[in-house]
Amino acid sequence: MKKFRLTEKEMNQLAARYETPFLVASTSQAEENYCFMRENLPHAGIYYAIKANPAPEILKRMASLGSHFDVASAGEMDMLTAIGVPGSRMIYANPVKDRRGLKRAAEIGVRRMTFDDASEIGKMAEYIPGADVLVRVAVRNNKAMVDLNTKFGVQPAEALRLLAQARDAGLHPIGICFHVGSQSLSTAAYEEALILCRGLFQEAEDMGMHLTDLDIGGGFPVPSASGLSVDPGEMMRSIDREIVRLFPDAAVWCEPGRFLCGTAMNLVTTVIGTKTRQGHPWYILDEGVYGALSGIIFDHWSYPLHCFGEGAEQVSTFVGPSCDGIDVLYRDVEVPHQKIGNHVLITEIGAYSSVSATRFNGFPLAPVLIWENLPEAKARAEREAAVEREVEELRREEVV
Ligand SMILES: *Cc1c(COP(=O)(O)O)cnc(C)c1O
Repeated sequence: MKKFRLTEKEMNQLAARYETPFLVASTSQAEENYCFMRENLPHAGIYYAIKANPAPEILKRMASLGSHFDVASAGEMDMLTAIGVPGSRMIYANPVKDRRGLKRAAEIGVRRMTFDDASEIGKMAEYIPGADVLVRVAVRNNKAMVDLNTKFGVQPAEALRLLAQARDAGLHPIGICFHVGSQSLSTAAYEEALILCRGLFQEAEDMGMHLTDLDIGGGFPVPSASGLSVDPGEMMRSIDREIVRLFPDAAVWCEPGRFLCGTAMNLVTTVIGTKTRQGHPWYILDEGVYGALSGIIFDHWSYPLHCFGEGAEQVSTFVGPSCDGIDVLYRDVEVPHQKIGNHVLITEIGAYSSVSATRFNGFPLAPVLIWENLPEAKARAEREAAVEREVEELRREEVV
């Protein structure tokens, strides 16, 4: 799969016009990822989990492609309302909802929610009587970078009792959901969860409760900086086959976050200082773990780092600008020597990055530029079109 990446020249041109650090988001890359998912997992509708990256232009692009959305708070609902997405295209997929979120959901017509405890039923029934609800079950997966099954999900044996209780409270139980954990490297985790849910659907039927919807959550991986042992296309096609086999009549949904936006953003930073420690160079960048690189901490993630310059590679360490010792970004990576003022490019930083950035130490949030609106994008498109024309011409000559 193609991944959005600035060239060295494009990076330097942008850094000459905009003060670093800044992020560049490609909405076309997000679109490509969305289309990839539609193609390889055609039997599941998409709720984009906007917590991964709620940049308005990405939300707009997803909305125009027909995506639905996974929201967790009134704030996320407001971001979508602001770009004209109706509540009917959202699922309130935070198993525990606060009053503000419930109130906003009622106001804008969000009628679909998930829950994983009996204590949530009264709240949902009070604010949105008759709402469509899905019970979230805990599933097993030891091959996810981010575990979501310790904090979330009821044990499967209790799931149907909860749905029946919801029905008795006047809610409309429609199905089951799960999340195998984020950045899942296991296809089997989805397949096992699908089999588990198939059994629960049958049991529900036997209890006189007809379930219609299955939501398989997110978790779809992006290639990691250190290489990845799973092919997302193959993973999605296997899951799709199981959906067709086990749930031919259900409405199946997924809630991708990371997969849709992970490869859609680059970060441009500058070396603002250098040190020598134990004979090795250290470089201080103008962005760190309290900023757009917060995913290094919160998301347990590392992003591809691209340094430019001549000379032999040296074992080097990169740190952020804050006065905290935790602000270490890359240890012992081999890069050519850097000088103060050099720009450094970090790619595949579209998910769980800027959205959890802070203003710690008074550093401002890195702004997000939209690639498609920049003259560099137009220039690149023209270059690519010229190459294409040339190839076309050569092909014609060959035919003649
Ligand atoms: C975070 C989250 C997602 C998205 O997860 P990814 O691993 O980024 O795909 C989907 N659904 C729910 C309920 C979530 O909390």
